[in-house]
Amino acid sequence: MKPFATPCSGDDGLPAGGHRLSVAGPIEGLSYPPLCPSCGAAASTALAIPKVFWFDPGGDTPGGHRIAQANPLFCTSCVARHRAEALEPGLVAILTTTLFSELVIPAVGTLSLGLFMLHLLLPRALGTLEKTWWLLLIACGLVGVGISSFRTAWPATRWKRVPAQTSITRAFDFGDDDTGWFKTEPRTYVIRNAACGAAFARLNEALHAKLTGPEQRSRERRRWWIAATIMVAIAILAWLMEPPPKAAHPGGTSTPLCGPVGDKEGCASEQGSKH
Ligand SMILES: [Zn+2]
Repeated sequence: MKPFATPCSGDDGLPAGGHRLSVAGPIEGLSYPPLCPSCGAAASTALAIPKVFWFDPGGDTPGGHRIAQANPLFCTSCVARHRAEALEPGLVAILTTTLFSELVIPAVGTLSLGLFMLHLLLPRALGTLEKTWWLLLIACGLVGVGISSFRTAWPATRWKRVPAQTSITRAFDFGDDDTGWFKTEPRTYVIRNAACGAAFARLNEALHAKLTGPEQRSRERRRWWIAATIMVAIAILAWLMEPPPKAAHPGGTSTPLCGPVGDKEGCASEQGSKH
Protein backbone atom coordinates (compact mmCIF):
# COMPACT_ATOMS: atom_id res chain seq x y z
CA MET A 1 0.00 0.00 0.00
CA LYS A 2 1.33 3.45 -0.96
CA PRO A 3 1.50 6.24 1.64
CA PHE A 4 0.26 8.81 -0.91
CA ALA A 5 -3.12 8.96 -2.63
CA THR A 6 -3.74 8.41 -6.33
CA PRO A 7 -5.68 11.33 -7.89
CA CYS A 8 -9.40 10.67 -8.46
CA SER A 9 -11.64 12.27 -11.05
CA GLY A 10 -15.20 13.49 -10.38
CA ASP A 11 -17.12 10.90 -8.32
CA ASP A 12 -14.92 7.99 -9.41
CA GLY A 13 -14.02 5.50 -6.71
CA LEU A 14 -16.71 6.54 -4.21
CA PRO A 15 -18.07 3.63 -2.09
CA ALA A 16 -21.18 1.95 -3.51
CA GLY A 17 -22.88 1.66 -0.10
CA GLY A 18 -23.44 4.20 2.65
CA HIS A 19 -25.51 7.36 2.83
CA ARG A 20 -25.04 9.24 -0.47
CA LEU A 21 -25.99 12.92 -0.64
CA SER A 22 -25.21 16.11 -2.56
CA VAL A 23 -24.27 19.29 -0.75
CA ALA A 24 -23.34 22.61 -2.38
CA GLY A 25 -20.80 24.91 -0.82
CA PRO A 26 -17.07 25.06 -0.18
CA ILE A 27 -16.07 21.91 1.71
CA GLU A 28 -13.84 23.88 4.11
CA GLY A 29 -16.82 26.00 5.20
CA LEU A 30 -19.30 23.15 5.91
CA SER A 31 -20.57 22.14 9.36
CA TYR A 32 -19.91 18.62 10.66
CA PRO A 33 -22.17 16.86 13.19
CA PRO A 34 -20.79 15.47 16.49
CA LEU A 35 -21.40 11.92 15.25
CA CYS A 36 -18.73 9.53 14.02
CA PRO A 37 -19.17 8.88 10.26
CA SER A 38 -17.68 5.41 10.72
CA CYS A 39 -19.55 3.97 13.72
CA GLY A 40 -22.15 6.61 14.67
CA ALA A 41 -20.80 7.10 18.24
CA ALA A 42 -20.45 10.53 19.85
CA ALA A 43 -17.56 12.32 18.12
CA SER A 44 -15.41 15.27 19.11
CA THR A 45 -12.03 14.88 17.35
CA ALA A 46 -11.71 16.52 13.93
CA LEU A 47 -9.80 14.46 11.40
CA ALA A 48 -8.51 16.24 8.32
CA ILE A 49 -9.38 14.23 5.18
CA PRO A 50 -7.66 15.69 2.12
CA LYS A 51 -8.31 14.22 -1.34
CA VAL A 52 -6.58 15.00 -4.62
CA PHE A 53 -8.56 15.30 -7.85
CA TRP A 54 -7.50 15.49 -11.46
CA PHE A 55 -9.70 17.85 -13.49
CA ASP A 56 -9.80 18.60 -17.20
CA PRO A 57 -11.99 21.54 -18.29
CA GLY A 58 -11.58 20.52 -21.95
CA GLY A 59 -10.87 22.73 -24.97
CA ASP A 60 -7.71 24.80 -24.81
CA THR A 61 -7.83 25.17 -21.02
CA PRO A 62 -5.21 22.94 -19.43
CA GLY A 63 -6.23 20.46 -16.73
CA GLY A 64 -4.57 20.08 -13.38
CA HIS A 65 -4.74 18.76 -9.84
CA ARG A 66 -6.67 20.25 -6.93
CA ILE A 67 -6.95 19.26 -3.30
CA ALA A 68 -10.17 19.38 -1.26
CA GLN A 69 -10.21 18.76 2.47
CA ALA A 70 -13.09 17.73 4.74
CA ASN A 71 -12.79 18.03 8.53
CA PRO A 72 -15.45 15.73 10.05
CA LEU A 73 -15.51 14.72 13.71
CA PHE A 74 -14.68 11.11 14.67
CA CYS A 75 -14.92 9.15 17.93
CA THR A 76 -11.78 8.37 19.93
CA SER A 77 -11.55 4.68 19.01
CA CYS A 78 -11.98 5.36 15.25
CA VAL A 79 -9.28 8.08 15.41
CA ALA A 80 -6.93 5.56 17.09
CA ARG A 81 -7.70 2.98 14.41
CA HIS A 82 -7.06 5.53 11.67
CA ARG A 83 -3.67 6.41 13.20
CA ALA A 84 -2.74 2.74 13.37
CA GLU A 85 -3.64 2.22 9.71
CA ALA A 86 -2.13 5.41 8.26
CA LEU A 87 1.24 4.85 6.59
CA GLU A 88 3.96 7.31 7.55
CA PRO A 89 5.96 8.18 4.43
CA GLY A 90 9.75 8.18 4.80
CA LEU A 91 11.90 11.25 4.13
CA VAL A 92 13.09 9.84 0.79
CA ALA A 93 9.48 9.24 -0.36
CA ILE A 94 8.54 12.81 0.63
CA LEU A 95 11.53 14.38 -1.14
CA THR A 96 10.96 12.23 -4.23
CA THR A 97 7.59 13.89 -4.81
CA THR A 98 9.39 17.17 -5.51
CA LEU A 99 12.72 15.91 -6.87
CA PHE A 100 11.07 14.08 -9.79
CA SER A 101 9.22 17.15 -10.95
CA GLU A 102 10.04 19.33 -13.94
CA LEU A 103 9.66 22.35 -11.64
CA VAL A 104 12.75 21.32 -9.73
CA ILE A 105 15.13 21.21 -12.74
CA PRO A 106 16.05 24.94 -12.52
CA ALA A 107 16.41 24.58 -8.75
CA VAL A 108 18.83 21.64 -9.01
CA GLY A 109 20.84 23.30 -11.80
CA THR A 110 21.35 26.65 -10.09
CA LEU A 111 21.84 25.20 -6.60
CA SER A 112 24.46 22.65 -7.65
CA LEU A 113 26.36 25.22 -9.72
CA GLY A 114 26.30 27.75 -6.84
CA LEU A 115 27.44 25.13 -4.29
CA PHE A 116 30.20 23.92 -6.61
CA MET A 117 31.47 27.49 -7.03
CA LEU A 118 31.40 28.02 -3.26
CA HIS A 119 33.28 24.74 -2.78
CA LEU A 120 36.06 26.01 -5.09
CA LEU A 121 36.16 29.59 -3.83
CA LEU A 122 35.69 29.36 -0.06
CA PRO A 123 38.98 27.60 0.90
CA ARG A 124 40.95 30.50 -0.63
CA ALA A 125 38.37 33.23 -0.07
CA LEU A 126 40.24 35.19 2.64
CA GLY A 127 43.47 35.52 0.68
CA THR A 128 41.92 36.33 -2.69
CA LEU A 129 38.79 38.23 -1.64
CA GLU A 130 39.83 41.40 -3.47
CA LYS A 131 39.91 39.55 -6.81
CA THR A 132 37.17 36.97 -6.35
CA TRP A 133 34.48 38.86 -4.40
CA TRP A 134 32.30 39.10 -7.51
CA LEU A 135 32.53 35.34 -8.10
CA LEU A 136 31.48 34.76 -4.50
CA LEU A 137 28.56 37.10 -5.06
CA ILE A 138 27.46 35.15 -8.16
CA ALA A 139 27.80 31.83 -6.28
CA CYS A 140 25.67 33.13 -3.38
CA GLY A 141 23.12 34.47 -5.91
CA LEU A 142 22.88 31.07 -7.62
CA VAL A 143 22.39 29.33 -4.27
CA GLY A 144 19.68 31.87 -3.41
CA VAL A 145 17.87 31.33 -6.73
CA GLY A 146 18.12 27.53 -6.25
CA ILE A 147 16.60 27.64 -2.75
CA SER A 148 13.87 29.99 -3.96
CA SER A 149 13.03 27.60 -6.86
CA PHE A 150 12.76 24.70 -4.38
CA ARG A 151 10.38 26.79 -2.27
CA THR A 152 8.20 27.34 -5.38
CA ALA A 153 8.30 23.66 -6.42
CA TRP A 154 7.35 22.41 -2.92
CA PRO A 155 3.75 23.76 -2.72
CA ALA A 156 3.18 23.16 -6.46
CA THR A 157 3.78 19.42 -5.89
CA ARG A 158 1.70 19.23 -2.70
CA TRP A 159 -0.93 17.12 -4.48
CA LYS A 160 1.65 14.31 -4.71
CA ARG A 161 1.94 14.20 -0.91
CA VAL A 162 -1.76 13.85 -0.06
CA PRO A 163 -1.98 10.82 2.26
CA ALA A 164 -3.83 7.70 1.11
CA GLN A 165 -7.23 7.07 2.70
CA THR A 166 -7.63 4.57 5.52
CA SER A 167 -10.70 2.39 6.24
CA ILE A 168 -11.74 5.13 8.71
CA THR A 169 -11.38 8.18 6.45
CA ARG A 170 -13.21 6.20 3.71
CA ALA A 171 -16.23 6.44 6.06
CA PHE A 172 -16.49 10.11 5.05
CA ASP A 173 -15.78 10.11 1.32
CA PHE A 174 -16.51 12.75 -1.28
CA GLY A 175 -16.18 13.54 -4.98
CA ASP A 176 -14.83 16.56 -6.82
CA ASP A 177 -16.61 19.91 -7.02
CA ASP A 178 -16.83 21.55 -10.46
CA THR A 179 -18.31 24.78 -9.13
CA GLY A 180 -17.18 27.71 -11.23
CA TRP A 181 -17.85 31.42 -11.52
CA PHE A 182 -21.00 30.80 -13.58
CA LYS A 183 -22.42 27.63 -12.03
CA THR A 184 -22.62 26.05 -8.58
CA GLU A 185 -22.30 22.27 -8.64
CA PRO A 186 -23.14 20.31 -5.46
CA ARG A 187 -20.46 17.89 -4.30
CA THR A 188 -21.31 14.21 -3.73
CA TYR A 189 -20.68 12.81 -0.23
CA VAL A 190 -20.84 9.16 0.81
CA ILE A 191 -21.04 8.70 4.59
CA ARG A 192 -20.90 5.18 6.04
CA ASN A 193 -23.13 5.89 9.06
CA ALA A 194 -26.65 6.84 7.97
CA ALA A 195 -27.45 8.90 11.11
CA CYS A 196 -24.26 10.95 10.65
CA GLY A 197 -25.08 11.42 6.95
CA ALA A 198 -28.60 12.66 7.71
CA ALA A 199 -27.27 15.04 10.42
CA PHE A 200 -24.62 16.36 8.01
CA ALA A 201 -27.34 17.05 5.40
CA ARG A 202 -29.52 18.87 7.98
CA LEU A 203 -26.64 21.03 9.23
CA ASN A 204 -25.79 22.27 5.74
CA GLU A 205 -29.32 22.37 4.34
CA ALA A 206 -29.65 26.16 4.49
CA LEU A 207 -26.32 26.77 2.72
CA HIS A 208 -27.17 24.18 0.05
CA ALA A 209 -30.60 25.78 -0.56
CA LYS A 210 -29.05 29.25 -0.80
CA LEU A 211 -26.34 28.17 -3.29
CA THR A 212 -28.73 26.23 -5.53
CA GLY A 213 -31.72 28.58 -5.20
CA PRO A 214 -33.18 31.02 -7.76
CA GLU A 215 -31.26 34.04 -6.39
CA GLN A 216 -27.91 32.32 -6.88
CA ARG A 217 -28.95 31.11 -10.35
CA SER A 218 -29.91 34.64 -11.45
CA ARG A 219 -26.61 35.95 -9.99
CA GLU A 220 -24.70 33.37 -12.05
CA ARG A 221 -26.70 34.26 -15.18
CA ARG A 222 -25.90 37.94 -14.58
CA ARG A 223 -22.17 37.11 -14.29
CA TRP A 224 -22.37 35.14 -17.53
CA TRP A 225 -23.99 38.04 -19.41
CA ILE A 226 -21.47 40.55 -18.02
CA ALA A 227 -18.57 38.31 -19.09
CA ALA A 228 -20.13 37.72 -22.53
CA THR A 229 -20.71 41.49 -23.01
CA ILE A 230 -17.08 42.24 -22.06
CA MET A 231 -15.82 39.59 -24.51
CA VAL A 232 -17.97 41.01 -27.34
CA ALA A 233 -16.82 44.58 -26.51
CA ILE A 234 -13.16 43.46 -26.60
CA ALA A 235 -13.74 41.71 -29.96
CA ILE A 236 -15.38 44.87 -31.43
CA LEU A 237 -12.56 47.08 -30.10
CA ALA A 238 -9.93 44.77 -31.59
CA TRP A 239 -11.77 44.86 -34.94
CA LEU A 240 -12.03 48.70 -34.89
CA MET A 241 -8.35 49.09 -34.01
CA GLU A 242 -7.20 46.77 -36.77
CA PRO A 243 -5.12 48.74 -39.34
CA PRO A 244 -6.90 49.28 -42.69
CA PRO A 245 -5.75 47.05 -45.57
CA LYS A 246 -3.12 48.57 -47.89
CA ALA A 247 -4.56 50.37 -50.93
CA ALA A 248 -4.13 48.64 -54.30
CA HIS A 249 -1.28 49.92 -56.47
CA PRO A 250 -2.58 52.77 -58.73
CA GLY A 251 -3.25 51.51 -62.22
CA GLY A 252 -2.61 47.91 -61.22
CA THR A 253 -4.98 45.01 -61.55
CA SER A 254 -6.23 43.09 -58.60
CA THR A 255 -5.45 39.38 -58.65
CA PRO A 256 -8.06 36.92 -57.46
CA LEU A 257 -7.03 34.56 -54.65
CA CYS A 258 -7.61 31.56 -56.85
CA GLY A 259 -7.44 30.84 -60.52
CA PRO A 260 -5.67 32.82 -63.22
CA VAL A 261 -6.44 36.51 -63.82
CA GLY A 262 -9.83 36.91 -65.45
CA ASP A 263 -10.76 33.25 -64.93
CA LYS A 264 -13.92 34.04 -62.98
CA GLU A 265 -15.52 30.70 -63.74
CA GLY A 266 -12.57 28.74 -62.42
CA CYS A 267 -12.60 30.74 -59.16
CA ALA A 268 -16.34 30.39 -58.69
CA SER A 269 -16.28 26.69 -59.43
CA GLU A 270 -13.37 26.15 -57.00
CA GLN A 271 -15.15 28.10 -54.26
CA GLY A 272 -18.33 26.24 -54.97
CA SER A 273 -16.59 22.89 -54.70
CA LYS A 274 -15.59 23.69 -51.13
CA HIS A 275 -19.21 23.70 -49.97
ZN1 LIG B 1 -16.26 5.86 15.49
